[in-house]
Amino acid sequence: MNNLKISNSLTRSKDLFKPINPKNITMYVCGPTVYADPHVGNGRSLIVFDLLYRVLIKLYGQKNITYVRNITDVDDKIIETSKTKGIPIDKITSDAAKNFHKNVKDLNCLEPTIEPKATKHIKEMIKMIDSLIEKKLAYLNNGHVYFLISEFKNYGKLSNKKLDDLVPGSRVEVSKLKKNPLDFILWKPALTDEPSWDSPWGRGRPGWHLECSVMSEKYLGKTFDIHGGGLDLLFPHHENEIAQSCANNSTDVLANYWIHNGFLTMNKEKMSKSLGNLETISEVSGKYNGQAIRLALLSAHYKQPLEWSDNLLEQSKATLEKWYELYDEAESNIDNSEIFSCLLDDLNTPKYFAKLHELYNVASKGDKTKRVEFNEACRLIGIFNQKKDVLAKEKQDLSNVDKKYILQKIEERIKARKVGDFKLADKIRDELSKNGIAIKDKDNNTEWEYK
Ligand code: AMP
Ligand code: ZN
Repeated sequence: MNNLKISNSLTRSKDLFKPINPKNITMYVCGPTVYADPHVGNGRSLIVFDLLYRVLIKLYGQKNITYVRNITDVDDKIIETSKTKGIPIDKITSDAAKNFHKNVKDLNCLEPTIEPKATKHIKEMIKMIDSLIEKKLAYLNNGHVYFLISEFKNYGKLSNKKLDDLVPGSRVEVSKLKKNPLDFILWKPALTDEPSWDSPWGRGRPGWHLECSVMSEKYLGKTFDIHGGGLDLLFPHHENEIAQSCANNSTDVLANYWIHNGFLTMNKEKMSKSLGNLETISEVSGKYNGQAIRLALLSAHYKQPLEWSDNLLEQSKATLEKWYELYDEAESNIDNSEIFSCLLDDLNTPKYFAKLHELYNVASKGDKTKRVEFNEACRLIGIFNQKKDVLAKEKQDLSNVDKKYILQKIEERIKARKVGDFKLADKIRDELSKNGIAIKDKDNNTEWEYK
């Protein structure tokens, strides 16, 4: 049976997926805030929901799915970045969006059906705030509009938190404009040089949570099937989306299935811009094929944390190169229900990979059908999208980049030694060594080799 089971944060259990309408599956995933280069942690979220999309496509057909992934192009962080860098906001957001799309392509993620931008939905946002105020679910105070949390009885249901436990402690500064410390912003007044729109409450801009409520309702309706994002969005972002949407529409449910991916960590902490423990997708895809990055990010179950490391990437790269030995262009509709069942079980990629290895072993003995099956199974998770010769050429290009880098480092080391800076010379040797390159000083030359 083609039954998808998926971990649902709302019920805290693994639930059988039952769409509201199998002819129109509806999925909303919180997309990027466009102000900086996305890191591979953001890439994990992208790839996890891309995989879910691919599974849904296989089960229901692409034409029967509406997948919405928004772009947040108005936000405090964008404004701050524009101020500190002295670059106009429009340029920051359009450059970051362009870069994001390149990353999405490099990671071979499918395009969503709709990619709405927040700034193109301000009118609808104002309408929703108006409606909330009208229903006495929101209030205006000094140009700010807040959602009145006490009016929504189910607050905390998604994140399993009780209102009493949530009241911020003394360390958190609470705005005096709020009636309840947990009330959250729907509209905030803008300073003169900030992006702003006219509204009944003065010039200003919408709150972040509101954006997703408005865009999901516009494209998917008041109640839809799946809502996704990283674990950090569960609270308060998703909890607040539910509060304002359900309160406004007098509904019990915003989305039936709430799916959250676990964190990609670096040095055991969540990869994040604020901590600075990150690698951008652009950096990594300059050194590794996007398919290897994809394999690395899918190597753990999506709910579990995953530690990012060179070792993980190297292993994924080796696996990809090995699997490509059996690459076959022929497409077919072979039955791969056995291996597919691993994905139907809460997107169990570790199990899927184990089966792929087994399939590879059988297929490499010359069984043609198994080879086709293996290729199909690779394509299903978004790899084998490039022909073998393209991959080989890219590998060659990447190794030319490597060589340029190595020769440059050797040059720097020679210079350092010449001026007696042996500390720097040793540092460069160590750096090369860490990247798998051994160097040897011979006569007046420096030779190098891959270790
Ligand atoms: P942002 O642009 O910061 O709103 O993040 C975009 C998406 O990436 C959201 O779904 C986040 O939850 C997710 N995300 C951010 N950091 C990580 C991380 N270290 N690991 C996994 N997902 C993350
Ligand atoms: Zn959102």
